[in-house]
Amino acid sequence: MYIQRSLIASLDRNKAEHVQQNKKEQLMKLIRYCSEEETCRRKLLLSHFGQTFEPASCKGMCDNCLHQEKFDIHKTNVTDQANALLDIGELYTHISIIT
Ligand SMILES: [Zn+2]
Repeated sequence: MYIQRSLIASLDRNKAEHVQQNKKEQLMKLIRYCSEEETCRRKLLLSHFGQTFEPASCKGMCDNCLHQEKFDIHKTNVTDQANALLDIGELYTHISIIT
């Protein structure tokens, strides 16, 4: 994060405002691309150039798809379970423990 902030700070000092904004947006896109851990990189890259790509066609050729295949990652919606745990946690905040 320090490098990101220093790059942004250096842009602030040296460029006109509209150029700075454009460079910041490009930098943030690059950071998001590098930080992405789930979406197929080929899909991300081609979408930048206005093209579409079906991640199933990647077949593990990018690091994110390879990682998902290697560890057989499946997404499961656990919203109901998470909400139930939050309800339990909230319930316990209202109970006084008598010793
Ligand atoms: Zn991929």
